[in-house]
Amino acid sequence: MILDDDPDGDWTAPGVFRCAPGVYRIPLPLPNDGLRAVNVYAVADGDGLTLVDAGWALAEARELLAKALAALDAGFPDVRQFLVTHVHRDHYTQAVVLRREFGMKVALGRGEESGLKIINSERADGTANQARLARAGAQELLRTLATMPPPPPDPAHWGYPDHWIEDGEEIVVGEGETSRRLLAVATPGHTRGHVVFADELAGLLFAGDHVLPRITPSLALEPDPTSSPLTAFLTSLELMRTRPDAALLPAHGPVGMRVHERVDQLIAHHAARLDASLTAVREGRSTAHEVAGALPWTRRETRLVDLDPFNAMLATLETASHLQVLVERGAVRVTEQDGIDYYTT
Ligand SMILES: [Zn+2]
Repeated sequence: MILDDDPDGDWTAPGVFRCAPGVYRIPLPLPNDGLRAVNVYAVADGDGLTLVDAGWALAEARELLAKALAALDAGFPDVRQFLVTHVHRDHYTQAVVLRREFGMKVALGRGEESGLKIINSERADGTANQARLARAGAQELLRTLATMPPPPPDPAHWGYPDHWIEDGEEIVVGEGETSRRLLAVATPGHTRGHVVFADELAGLLFAGDHVLPRITPSLALEPDPTSSPLTAFLTSLELMRTRPDAALLPAHGPVGMRVHERVDQLIAHHAARLDASLTAVREGRSTAHEVAGALPWTRRETRLVDLDPFNAMLATLETASHLQVLVERGAVRVTEQDGIDYYTT
């Protein structure tokens, strides 16, 4: 059964939800993950389908996707391609696994190439984050995280795409009168090679994790981060503001918001965090980890010491990104000593 999407409903409830003519939202589960679910969008493509994002390669997610496709009178062989917004496992890995069986094409932003190469190399995942945490002065947190290493990446989940999507590329989905054009726009920040897909005629934006309605996306959790992830992210948000407004189709969270409305909120959020970080430095906190300890975290305003190690890592890395922007703007100075960055005003 296909229902009309309800912005006020539980967005994680399994099913197929019509969010625009020929566009369906299919939430797939993310067990043991704070994000709870990921939205895959099915777009009518002639007598088949194009899927934007693919979900995490998990048996439960595959089963629900098969059921959802059946409700659309389709099956995996009818999926022509996956357009994947970025290389995180909850978006990419199911595309790679299904491709091996069914042969659909997989496309991913060009900017993800260097990170995917590292994932597929001998170098362990997470090295980049460890280096960033060390510079942030989070040595104790690093020791805790070292006792709980993530499982090594499964090579069966991390094959290369058939196609690297370039910034500004136009992807035609379907043929004739019912065809639509999706404009791929590079939006680095959440990851280096994140892309969004704009259907300008229909006024839709498949936003991946770039613009999320209820949370601010993590920055640069990837093997090959850019030198200033927050600057990249803020620039990519401004870019959305210069483009026509559209209905927001996010990868996590409900539909129902407008892109510009949410972009403005995200920019304001980061402006406030930059201010709070600057204040903490003025008050004498000198490393990113110390500054993170002075700020409230999550909607519940949790203290850093009360976060679990993974979220404490996210908080510390995000603070390091904020401090780096303050350095770029000339508001604070940074000096390195014994491999740790110290900030002063
Ligand atoms: Zn995601």
